[in-house]
Amino acid sequence: MTIGYLLRFRPSVAAAKSVLNGTIQPFSSHAAFAEHKALERIRNIGISAHIDSGKTTLTERILFYTGRIKEMHEVKGKDNVGATMDSMELERQRGITIQSAATYTIWKDHNINIIDTPGHVDFTVEVERALRVLDGAILVLCSVGGVQSQTLTVNRQMKRYNVPCLAFINKLDRMGANPYRVLGQMRSKLNHNAAFIQLPIGVENNCKGIVDLVKQRALYFEDNLGLTVREDEIPQDMRVESDERRHELIEHLSNVDDGIGELFLEEKTPSEKDIMAAIRRAALKRMFTPVLVGTALKNKGVQPLLDAVLNYLPHPGEVENIALIEKKGEEPQKVILNPARDGKDPFVGLAFKLEAGRFGQLTYLRCYQGVLKKGDNIYNVRSGKKVRLARLVRLHSNNMEDVNEVYAGDIFALFGVDCASGDTFVTNPKLELSMESIFVPDPVVSMAIQPTNSKDRDNFSKAIARFTKEDPTFRFAYDTDVKETLVSGMGELHLEIYAQRMEREYNCPVTLGKPKVAFRETLIAPCEFDYLHKKQSGGQGQYARVTGVLEPLPPHQNTDIEFVDETIGTNVPKQFIPGIDKGFRKMAEKGLLSGHRLSGIRFRLIDGAHHIVDSSELAFMLAAQGAIKSVFENGSWQILEPIMMVEVTAPNEFQGAVIGQLSKRHGIIMGTEGAEGWFTIHAEVPLNDMFGYAGELRSSTQGKGEFSMEYSRYSPCKPDVQERLMQEYQVSQGIVVVDKKQQKKKN
Ligand code: GDP
Repeated sequence: MTIGYLLRFRPSVAAAKSVLNGTIQPFSSHAAFAEHKALERIRNIGISAHIDSGKTTLTERILFYTGRIKEMHEVKGKDNVGATMDSMELERQRGITIQSAATYTIWKDHNINIIDTPGHVDFTVEVERALRVLDGAILVLCSVGGVQSQTLTVNRQMKRYNVPCLAFINKLDRMGANPYRVLGQMRSKLNHNAAFIQLPIGVENNCKGIVDLVKQRALYFEDNLGLTVREDEIPQDMRVESDERRHELIEHLSNVDDGIGELFLEEKTPSEKDIMAAIRRAALKRMFTPVLVGTALKNKGVQPLLDAVLNYLPHPGEVENIALIEKKGEEPQKVILNPARDGKDPFVGLAFKLEAGRFGQLTYLRCYQGVLKKGDNIYNVRSGKKVRLARLVRLHSNNMEDVNEVYAGDIFALFGVDCASGDTFVTNPKLELSMESIFVPDPVVSMAIQPTNSKDRDNFSKAIARFTKEDPTFRFAYDTDVKETLVSGMGELHLEIYAQRMEREYNCPVTLGKPKVAFRETLIAPCEFDYLHKKQSGGQGQYARVTGVLEPLPPHQNTDIEFVDETIGTNVPKQFIPGIDKGFRKMAEKGLLSGHRLSGIRFRLIDGAHHIVDSSELAFMLAAQGAIKSVFENGSWQILEPIMMVEVTAPNEFQGAVIGQLSKRHGIIMGTEGAEGWFTIHAEVPLNDMFGYAGELRSSTQGKGEFSMEYSRYSPCKPDVQERLMQEYQVSQGIVVVDKKQQKKKN
């Protein structure tokens, strides 16, 4: 794959001069100037957690503490409002949560965008998109529950997308709170090089404050709402422990950071600044996870967590963002986007979420490069549609704020833009860049679906309409053969999650049928054809002849089909070519071996013949169909099946059992890793062999094993699978079973 650099569209020399002369203002207004923060002052973060760990409570507290500064300004001079803010106020704030896909707030002169990461357990395009859009994350853990199943899932996703993170061990006030045990689990189960950068001063009922190990100070959160953070000496009875834990922190850092490693070897004590710089360097590379503690509910530890977000999570300029230049049939070319906020490069943005909320239909975007101004025209790279931007907004806690312009790194929303989530927008229509592949993989699994109660039909349609718009890998169709409505997607779980969401979000319980794998049929070697379609039965006859080759496409294109017209001269008049293409595509809907779609083939039309009176588009379409039928007979075909990348994590004692099960399911182990009692296996397994795996893994690992699975590619089936599929198909079609040996020879 080639890595190219984006051609920069520099402003003309004249324009540059006029900026210097002051005739063009770089920013359209003073207000806009104030919004135009340096890259270093922006953080785009997500908050991820196992359900019930306190993600919502923490988010609310963050909005409260960050919003407070603004409120104090606003209420200045009014009657004592600040002092009377009590839990009622917090209750009022509660409703605001981040229902929206992204909310923006300010902490110590930094813009923080909190992006909602959907809490689905499964890997879906939606989760993938949310993770792409953020640059760093807070992983919230419960002091009692520790690392739970969903923690493993979000951890895996962060690893995949290389998202640096901080850990916040919440609920110190709960009975049984044990942050030390949770740290141990982070090391063993999550495989993090993690260490405390804070310690609790008392837990459970005795939860008083926290020790900042870097600054070597105690922090207390005064008054009911913890608004004032008071610094003090570390309590006498915690000095030894604090020294030990600080030493442990330095040791963990020195294992991954040369700067601090040298000081450690020389037995020099690093300064506060040295440690902070080392934490930042190592956290950005995902080599170290700083662990913070607190209790969101009791208002302790939130402000230092916000400080840590600024100190230890990357700004948009520290993250590499890649766009793709895609042409059908070619390997996509990668382009590194320029995050500079000078607005000199052409605008590139990704629509990551559509939301029908309180404010109407909003489309959330992240700007990855350049600048976008109110009144600009933008183009949707996928559809080519142009939209003029009447308004640009940001969601600030529960308010909407109009902005005049947005720069690389900003998260913002647009009104009334018709697009799908995942679409890329540019201001220069020639810039055919996309942030996400515009070639969406075809679904690999399908299930029959219907609403359990027929009265829910309306809601069912609404849910389908929304989900299919948000997730292009989720599709809906009516199968006229079996008279069933079908949903298809990238895995059984993928479809089950949408079924659950229909019930939860649309009050429409649904019944799902058995999952069916989308096999494909393809050619093994090129096969020539020469087919004459001729019919003379009174009236106008039909005459068309096509010659050419049907050949396999390279393996990376084995889900495509292609038609190429290589004719020279007028043996096949041009107006009949579309008919041939149509005939080919029609035949490609159903293969001979198992009735599945054909793919990975190219129809090369080389020559043919026509009759001055009797030829027509229809005749050529039928000729093409006849040609494919002849290749069904003469060519050697095989069945392809979807192969999944499977990742399994479980305690070491179950490794043998897990490997055994995967091999039984025809899995190929691609690699294993492990730490402190846990292992992770990466394997490639045919989707057809994965049904029922969740239950099997659960029972063989006492419920401790976790797995995730995603589509990788199509690959030829094993001969026995192919044989079985062919037999099943032939029986279902009432075709007499041909001599097996002969079939085998053919394949
Ligand atoms: P989410 O599912 O991760 O969003 O979790 P929530 O924020 O909804 O919290 C789940 C429950 O835990 C709620 O009842 C919260 O009040 C409670 N909770 C959240 N933070 C704390 C905490 O620091 N201490 C205690 N004791 N409970 C908390």
